[in-house]
Amino acid sequence: MAGSHYELECVACGRSYEATELGFRLNCQRDDHPPAFLRSRYPRRLHIEDRHPGMFRYSNWLPSRRIPEVAGTPGVFRSERLGRALGLSRLYVVFNGYWPERGATLRTCAFKELEALSVCASISRREQRTLVVSSAGNTGKAFLQVCSDNGMPVIVVVPESALPDMWITTRKGPNVVLAVLRGNADYADAIALANRLAALDQCFPEGGARNVARRDGMGTALLHAVEKIGEIPEHYFQAVGSGTGGIAAWEMSRRLLADGGFGSNKMRLHLVQNSPFAIMTAAWQLRLPEVPTLPEDEARVRIRQLWASVLSNRNPPYSVRGGVFDALTDTGGHMYSVANNEAEVAGRMFEELEGCDIAPAAQVALAGLMRACRSKRIGNDELVLLNVTGGGSKMVDRDLQKHYVRPDFVFDASEVARKPIRVRLPELTRSMSR
Ligand SMILES: [Zn+2]
Repeated sequence: MAGSHYELECVACGRSYEATELGFRLNCQRDDHPPAFLRSRYPRRLHIEDRHPGMFRYSNWLPSRRIPEVAGTPGVFRSERLGRALGLSRLYVVFNGYWPERGATLRTCAFKELEALSVCASISRREQRTLVVSSAGNTGKAFLQVCSDNGMPVIVVVPESALPDMWITTRKGPNVVLAVLRGNADYADAIALANRLAALDQCFPEGGARNVARRDGMGTALLHAVEKIGEIPEHYFQAVGSGTGGIAAWEMSRRLLADGGFGSNKMRLHLVQNSPFAIMTAAWQLRLPEVPTLPEDEARVRIRQLWASVLSNRNPPYSVRGGVFDALTDTGGHMYSVANNEAEVAGRMFEELEGCDIAPAAQVALAGLMRACRSKRIGNDELVLLNVTGGGSKMVDRDLQKHYVRPDFVFDASEVARKPIRVRLPELTRSMSR
């Protein structure tokens, strides 16, 4: 698999690029148009390969260059009890977590494992440098797990507040490094530090939402669901912090529509944020093409109040061409902002009715779906897909062992912007090249 089965195409100007073998192409070379995503263009028909694990059954719609040995998978099921409680006759759940009884085997209990698998699979075996990833929590955990499972090098940067969530179910790999930002740091600070680390010679950046491997990997949750259901859903519900998962689902739904084998539903996006930090919801409700700028101090205060702390990107890819605004516009989408207590109620309801715990962000998504049902925004017989972006932590406690990852490096948030960060990294990269 040489990466030659796809091209990248600029959403704004249509220029195409071959996939680069080393590193990731993240931007269009033209500078005469506003910032725009590149999008991958695959063969029109989805080809399903049963012999490959997890998402790699869809590898002709992934930018993969290799197939990892270990790859978990989401579980998809028709939700009878929750559906009945909500008055929905065709509610499906794609469960991105660990719940083996439902076929879900993502051991970090998070949607982001799909993105980590896809990004790692897209890296050439000739790449000598170390991938640098920033995260508010789940993405970091996912890369720690996937890179440990598959013997790949990575530096993961997270704020200290995410440290209690940095557990994996395997032994940490020898070339897997966790860097933590101390102090009053949040996701945006982690991104800033990761950018500086990635600029070092021995490193390269994962690129976040601009990396097609990240988006297309998350988009496979929709592929699993559509393969099981047999058609594209009419409505798709997901909680969003940066919105990348929502963009990924939109992009994949367009490919499915073009394929022609999965019906003609144009899938409407319903993206849910957690108040009091719901900046994209605020913008979309006014149909603003940009998110309002919030004073940084106020943003930090609001983020600290979130029940679902991962839904906290202060700079989401909302206004970029091919981003959240375009996805909502194209699908006639809707955004919601739900309070902490609504999310908690939703989480208890899911666990009581379906029998598995779900993560705070997934509770937020379900609370948004409950709002949509109450307000009759969706019809009782319409085909609805709820993306449970995390869950099954109690099932992991039942079946597996959690290994808490200790930080290899600790940086002070207040120093990141000022100090040169040559500190000890030569030592780190030497140990990586062993
Ligand atoms: Zn362009």
